[in-house]
Amino acid sequence: MYNRYMTHTSGEEFPRWRLDTSDLDVDALPVLCEADVVVVGSGAAGVAAATVAAEGGLSVVIIEKYGFSGGAAVAGLSGTICGLYLSAEDQRRAPEQLVYGFTERFRGELSAHGGLTAPQLYGSTWTVAHDPLVWRETADRLLERSGVRVLYHTNVIAPVTDADELCGVVVASNAGRSVVRARRVIDASGDAAVVARLGGGTVFGENGEIQNPTMFFRMANVDTDAYQQFYGQDTICPPEVSAAIERARSEGAELPRSKIWIFRTPRHGELLVNATRLTGRDGRMLNVIDPEDFTEAEIYGRQQVRAYARFLQEHVPGCADAHVADTGVEAGIRQTRSILGVETLRNTDVVACRKRPDGVVRSAWPIELHSGDRPKLHWLYDDYYEVPYHTLVPRIGENLIVAGRCLSAEHEALASARVTAQCFEYGHAAATATLMSLETGDRYRDIEGAAVRERMRAAGSAL
Ligand SMILES: Cc1cc2nc3c(=O)[nH]c(=O)nc-3n(C[C@H](O)[C@H](O)[C@H](O)COP(=O)(O)OP(=O)(O)OC[C@H]3O[C@@H](n4cnc5c(N)ncnc54)[C@H](O)[C@@H]3O)c2cc1C
Repeated sequence: MYNRYMTHTSGEEFPRWRLDTSDLDVDALPVLCEADVVVVGSGAAGVAAATVAAEGGLSVVIIEKYGFSGGAAVAGLSGTICGLYLSAEDQRRAPEQLVYGFTERFRGELSAHGGLTAPQLYGSTWTVAHDPLVWRETADRLLERSGVRVLYHTNVIAPVTDADELCGVVVASNAGRSVVRARRVIDASGDAAVVARLGGGTVFGENGEIQNPTMFFRMANVDTDAYQQFYGQDTICPPEVSAAIERARSEGAELPRSKIWIFRTPRHGELLVNATRLTGRDGRMLNVIDPEDFTEAEIYGRQQVRAYARFLQEHVPGCADAHVADTGVEAGIRQTRSILGVETLRNTDVVACRKRPDGVVRSAWPIELHSGDRPKLHWLYDDYYEVPYHTLVPRIGENLIVAGRCLSAEHEALASARVTAQCFEYGHAAATATLMSLETGDRYRDIEGAAVRERMRAAGSAL
């Protein structure tokens, strides 16, 4: 009954790996379960999509390769919810929140459970830092309460089709392989795991160039008063810190990035540090879809963490007695594959703060590009742009929509649109479209973005 799937990579070439699963005999596999919707990946976008779809009355299965939800925000320890507030040239202004909807619900839950800081200054805008354990618990609670069937420790390895229509996924775990059948698939894998396996529907960075990964870490036992007095309120480091890093580098320390960011966390005496810059040891870009490059990022990342921690102990007041409490479970991956969408968010849409009748997510986050030795920031002062619905709809494949950082966007546009507040709302939008698609039988590509926007607005999104 099922097609055997022909897949091929697009843009990235890995001669020693095969993404193709055409030799998989899907008909011979047992069926694990059937649902209205399967959500692939339980990061910010996946948690939002699964919760909203289940609360709308659908049966939902979410599949996640780790033993917890959170993706880049938790496993990658990116640690803050960026993208909530407008940017302002005057740093003395109070933070003005732009994004609500599911994002605000998750923010409120984190806060109510002691897992979130007050807004912290980040250049010309603000961000909030979360506790990664409270994040996981919050996701578990929302998924459980809404009746989502959660499958952790399970990988999605192939799509399943009937004629030309996607009707499920093949999953693999320590127990073996089986099929999860579903009427709709939401690819919230960050890497476009399902779309890529359909073949030809993804691009990889800008002509193969992606942003640098970063290994995050937390420093415990910090004298935060002494630290704050020296470092100031802005989480982007003051020029003295960059200059001290450059001096230490000239004396042989392995500190490739001079502009670093440090956030207070909800835990007493703890800082979250975004400092490392992961390339190959020979300076080449690491293609982290390839496990060999990903491995290099992990090992080199942990070594850089120690070098930056030593720098903080020696040069930053309040950190002399501090120690590394933890790194991310994995190096934080900003960018891999993006889908080729029915529509694409353009760099000019972001810079011009373009509003759209079919806009389903708002963003005022700067273009934050991590390449070269200093991250580059382009601010959108007192304004925002809107992301159109059809950036979530792949050009190929029926019954399939994406949510999260693998949406269709040009390189610089993605460097703004990929942060966590927006990812929650992409999930909200994908689930809303899924509810509409199953109510009417319409294909995702035929659904009006304006109608998705209207329904999200009724559900509390500020649009
Ligand atoms: C280094 C770095 C710094 C960042 N800094 C910030 C920041 O300060 N603030 C901010 O708001 N955002 C930041 N971001 C961005 C933000 O963390 C991510 O863009 C966002 O969390 C992405 O959410 P997502 O749900 O789209 O994808 P992800 O969080 O990547 O979630 C995808 C999930 O899918 C799972 N998955 C993938 N493939 C499969 C498969 N085949 N089978 C099963 N499961 C699968 C993954 O394990 C993961 O849990 C940063 C990101 C990085 C990497």
